[in-house]
Amino acid sequence: MAEEPTAKRSEVKPKSFEDLIKDVHEKDICGECGGCVSFCSAAEIGAIEMTEDGPPHYANKDNCLHCGICYLICPETFELDKELNKKYDFRAPIGNWLKIVTAQAKDPRIREVATDGGVVTAILIALLEDNLINGALISKRINSFQRVPFFATSKEEILEAAGTYYDLKGPVPELGNYNTFVSTISELKKIKYSDSMKVAVVGVPCQIHSIRKMQELNIIPAHIVKYTLGLFCYENFKFDNIARARIEERFKFSFNDIEKINIKEDLIIKLKTNDNPLKIEFSDLKDIMRHACRVCENFSNYFSDISFGGLGSQTGYTTVMVRTKTGEKIYNLAQNKGYIIEPNDLNGSVEKSKMLAQIISFSERKSKRAESFEVQ
Ligand SMILES: Cc1cc2nc3c(=O)[nH]c(=O)nc-3n(C[C@H](O)[C@H](O)[C@H](O)COP(=O)(O)OP(=O)(O)OC[C@H]3O[C@@H](n4cnc5c(N)ncnc54)[C@H](O)[C@@H]3O)c2cc1C
Ligand code: SF4
Ligand code: SF4
Ligand code: SF4
Repeated sequence: MAEEPTAKRSEVKPKSFEDLIKDVHEKDICGECGGCVSFCSAAEIGAIEMTEDGPPHYANKDNCLHCGICYLICPETFELDKELNKKYDFRAPIGNWLKIVTAQAKDPRIREVATDGGVVTAILIALLEDNLINGALISKRINSFQRVPFFATSKEEILEAAGTYYDLKGPVPELGNYNTFVSTISELKKIKYSDSMKVAVVGVPCQIHSIRKMQELNIIPAHIVKYTLGLFCYENFKFDNIARARIEERFKFSFNDIEKINIKEDLIIKLKTNDNPLKIEFSDLKDIMRHACRVCENFSNYFSDISFGGLGSQTGYTTVMVRTKTGEKIYNLAQNKGYIIEPNDLNGSVEKSKMLAQIISFSERKSKRAESFEVQ
């Protein structure tokens, strides 16, 4: 019997920036990460460019090669997820993991400046000191409330960039349009690399998602990324001075009184004026959530080599999920060489089950939130 005719090769058009506009920008879920612009195949001749406050746009449509790279690497598209799910053995809702543990950096200088237990910083320093990396793509504070992407190549630079949230020294500057998301992916393109270079990247799930897609597509220089250290992430925030005033009014505090901000099961704000931290539920911050985060369902960073969060651990400790053999190798190195401590009394089977239950619960909550936005 004759076979059903299939689509001719010439009819299967790769997606292009126009599809990105339709599937991401028009749905209002562009995270403004800049990845599509930085890694555009026609970057040299300027096909697309970032806008001041919003999704990128065509700078010159005629220069677009319709190659589809921008579409494929965008963290808000899912064309390569079948391949990634298989490669990283994804199982809903938290992905594959080999080991879960609560730990902290042995060095008190790291613990003092870190967000939680300083395990991320301790591993990066161990990698650098063992010559397993030339540098780490992270983010560093530039003033009391702003961070920028940063390629750290020394122990001092890694230490300087430790911490995730904000240790506020002095008054908060006028924020303008303020975004807690730091666009590190575009920075990868700016690293002056050689093919023998080895780099670790720290990032939230959407950033590690982009890196894995680039590696899958052999997009240069993703081949120099040897280790991915993923941070848990429930959401990020984007707001201006008007929204800031609204939050201050709603929760009865001033940004100028903030000493430190952290995210665990809630947004936790330590005020200079009060010993008890203010805890704000994520559901009360919907109006300042980045739009891309509304449809994001990856909480525990399941495509990374190791992922880290505060959730599930006591203050001063980091929850660590070792996911890949590569992750296992570097975690064991940092532990065996004395950069990390795993207290036995906090790592019994009951404690580990509790940690896991919390991560599963947050992952499910995040998936449900994404589903509810998708059907709107
Ligand atoms: C935006 C964001 C949201 C988060 N949300 C949650 C959450 O909901 N629940 C939870 O349990 N944990 C969350 N985390 C993770 C948590 O805040 C800690 O980063 C994690 O527990 C590791 O702590 P640590 O003390 O071991 O890290 P540290 O030793 O302090 O090292 C953190 C490293 O991350 C780098 N870094 C900080 N911000 C960024 C960034 N935006 N992009 C790339 N690198 C960065 C720093 O430069 C530093 O190298 C979030 C982190 C971020 C950045
Ligand atoms: S050239 Fe390729 S990567 Fe650049 S905008 Fe066009 S389709 Fe996207
Ligand atoms: S999320 Fe990033 S890659 Fe996707 S369209 Fe927006 S800027 Fe481009
Ligand atoms: S919630 Fe998702 S989209 Fe938003 S910053 Fe975190 S990982 Fe990225």
